[in-house]
Order: sequence, then C-alpha cells, then structure tokens
Amino acid sequence: MSNLNDITFSEAPHFFNDVCKYVDDAAQFTQHDKGLLNQIKACNSVFHFKFPIRKGNSFEIIDAWRIEHSHHMSPTKGGIRYSEMVNEDEVMALAALMTYKCAIVNVPFGGAKGGIKINPKNYTIAELETITRRYTVELIKKNFIGPGIDVPAPDYGSGEREMSWIADTYQTMNSGSLDALACVTGKPLALHGIAGRKEATGKGVAFAVRECVSVSEDMAKIGLTTGLSGKKIIVQGLGNVGYHSAKFLIQLGATVVGLCEFDGAIYNDNGLDVEDVIKYRKETGSILGYTKAQKEFKDSSEGLEQACDILVPAALENQITEANVARIKAKIIAEGANGPTTPAAAAAFVKNGGIIIPDMYANAGGVTVSYFEWLKNLSHVAFGRMDRRYEETSNVNILNTLESSTGVKLTPEQRAIVGKGASELELVNSGLEDTMVRSYHEIRNIKNANPLIPSLRTAAFIGAIDKIAISYQNLGIWP
Ligand code: GLU
Repeated sequence: MSNLNDITFSEAPHFFNDVCKYVDDAAQFTQHDKGLLNQIKACNSVFHFKFPIRKGNSFEIIDAWRIEHSHHMSPTKGGIRYSEMVNEDEVMALAALMTYKCAIVNVPFGGAKGGIKINPKNYTIAELETITRRYTVELIKKNFIGPGIDVPAPDYGSGEREMSWIADTYQTMNSGSLDALACVTGKPLALHGIAGRKEATGKGVAFAVRECVSVSEDMAKIGLTTGLSGKKIIVQGLGNVGYHSAKFLIQLGATVVGLCEFDGAIYNDNGLDVEDVIKYRKETGSILGYTKAQKEFKDSSEGLEQACDILVPAALENQITEANVARIKAKIIAEGANGPTTPAAAAAFVKNGGIIIPDMYANAGGVTVSYFEWLKNLSHVAFGRMDRRYEETSNVNILNTLESSTGVKLTPEQRAIVGKGASELELVNSGLEDTMVRSYHEIRNIKNANPLIPSLRTAAFIGAIDKIAISYQNLGIWP
C-alpha cells in the first residue's frame, strides 16, 4: 500500500467518536447494560511513545503509537500504519474498528492498531529498518507485542518487509521461545508467512461484493441485475487492497471502468486493463496520461463521481463526505478502506436507496487470513502438509474403484481435478471465501430481522456487539 502515501485527506479528529456513534446507533437495537456498552466502546490501552533516529548529521524524534482497544479476547490484533497523517484519534478509531471487524467475522482476537508518524518515502530502507526495529523494541519493553498479547500486521504504508523486521527483532529478544514467529502476521511466505495473505483483503472485498450482488431481492430494490457480470466498478487506490480488489472483481466477471489515485483519476466506460495501467504507472510514475483512458481527472475525487454501479474506496478514511456524496453515481459502496465514508455521507447515501458494504466486514479478509497465519505459526506446520498426499491417494483410489465398477473412463484432466489434494493456498482461499460468504448473510439476516435497522453497517455493529458482550460474560467480567 506504500504507493498511496502521498494521498491527501482531511484530518479526522472525530474518527474515534464516529465509530462510537456507530456503536450507539446499533446498541439501541440490543438489550445490553449501559456500563457494558461503555466498556465495549472504550479504548483499553493507549501507548504513545517517541524515540530518536539519526538522520544525516542530526536527530529526529519519531512519534509512534500502539493502541489496544479491547481485551475481551487475546491476543489483540491489527496493522501498523506508516503515514505522516497518523494521529492518536485515528489509531484509536482504527483499533476500535479492528475489534468489531474481528467479532463480526468470528476471528477470535481483540482489536488493536499501531501508527508511526512518518512518510516512508522520506527515509532510506536502512532508516526504515532502524525505525521499525526500534518501534518493536519499545513494544516489547511495554509488553505490547507477543503471540498471546498483541499481534501487529501490515496496514497503509507497511508490508511484508516491515513485518519481517518486526518478527526478527521479536525473535532475537525472545530467543528460545517456540511461538515467537506468531508475534506478527503478514510476513513473507519464505519467512513463515502464509500463502494468500498479501491478496487476502482485496480478495475478501471481491467476495463481499459478489455476495451482495447475488441477492436478487436486494438488487431489484436498487435497480441492478444480479451477478457481477457486466457490473461497472470504480476503485479508489491502487495499493495492495485496491489493486487486488480490482483484479479479483475483474476475475469474477465485473468491469473496472475507473481508477483513482492520489495524483488523479482515469476512466473508460468500456473497461480498463488494470495490469496494463499498473505497468504504465511503473514506467511513468503516474496513472495520468494513460492513452487507453477516455477521460482523466487531475482532481482525483472527480473520479469517484463518474458513472458506475459499484464504488470501491480502498485508500484512506474520509473520502466520501457530505460535500461529494450527492454526486456519487454508484448504487453500492464497498468499503475496502477503513472509514472511507463519513457517518453523515453514509446516512445520506443509504437514505437515497444505496447499499454500503461496511468496512468492518468488507475489508476483513486481511485479518481473517492473518488468523490463519497465526494458527500456522503456532502449529509449526504448513496447511496441507500432513494430509495433501493422503487426500490425493484416497481420491485416486475412489476414482479407480468408480471407473472399474461403472466402466466409465475419465480423461486425464478430469482425473487431475477430482484426484487433487488441497494446497495451503487453496485451503486459505476456501477459509477466506467461507468467512466472507457466511458473514455477509449473517449481517444481512440481522438487518432483515428488524425493518428499523437502517443499514448493513448498523446490523454488523449489532452482531459484533452481541458477540463481544458474550465474551465479556464468558470471562465472568459481566454478570
Ligand atoms: N491492517 C489490516 C486491517 O485493517 C489487517 C490487520 C491484521 O491482519 O491484523 O484489517
């Protein structure tokens, strides 16, 4: 996601309050004790720290945070954001969203988030390594990281490289600890990561959109046909989440007509070849000037307002606001980013008949596969390692028996498909798809159970609050 670091967005000092407001809106539809609801909303631990790094001949003081929002389950979980715009309110809000996100997709973690207030583009790789390792040491000193305590992951501006540095630092400081590598997820595959983690968030967004457009009753209400085939999509952000959302939505049959980046947007009603656009940007440094686009916009936000069925904001928070929501032509907003639609804009959009697939569900694919990576690290064995060959042998035995008893011979291609045992990537994708499909219908069913529930977001918060409340009760903290 680091290529989005220059994107500009307005400061959001009320982001945490916005998330609390969503909880309050949802809580009206529950019977939970007010004190318990206040505990659910509160940010449990806020760790703000500063440390120096040497830059050239002088020192620079770096501001950093790790915030654990809820300990109703351990460990807590959430990414680390590297951005100049990071502030405490934002990290609190994002940590809170992680709590509700994990709850709604049944990932057994509390929520957390980290932030390092730097623009990574202004630092050398060696400096970024120093910053990341020092950040990790500070977390270790204060017990804010560990496989059973708090497990970071990538977020905006960070990726596999940073996660490797964190894992290595933690392991060095915990030598002999068998589970040390489960202290962070989103690691490269070669360094105890898991197949499919990098693309998981975007793939999850694509599954979420596919589920939403598969419900004929809901599509009829907004005047769309069912299915992704022929659906026109605009994606904001060509970082990890945006790129993979676009890629998998195209694979599932949709047409990406618009792409918006920090320096501008491009549009082609007949569809854009996302791989080709990425190649062009690599060569020229920008998506602007791409000759196969019909239109381009220097003001990136204009790109969001072009004709399409579905808008996928996959960059940063506060992108769809009261100022531009009336001009959004999409009927569905699928929130790949966290908090891209302000509460007022979301209310207006839904009131106008639109559907918002809320962030806490739509982008939960990342943390879902992080959960699988954590399990892999704790079990010290790759998924499929024990049973893949056994499964293949059993399948071949069944095939042989069927062929000899029926006299029907399958082609080698058919035998290969039926006989195959599952690889780690296939198991991860199956777990991811199952999570996204089940959770969508769980949220939709909550919404449909009460006509007063205004949106999928409120329904998702109701589901999350109920699950967190049960955890507190199970912990014996609440009667
Ligand atoms: N940063 C991602 C998110 O916001 C992933 C978090 C994780 O995998 O722990 O969901």
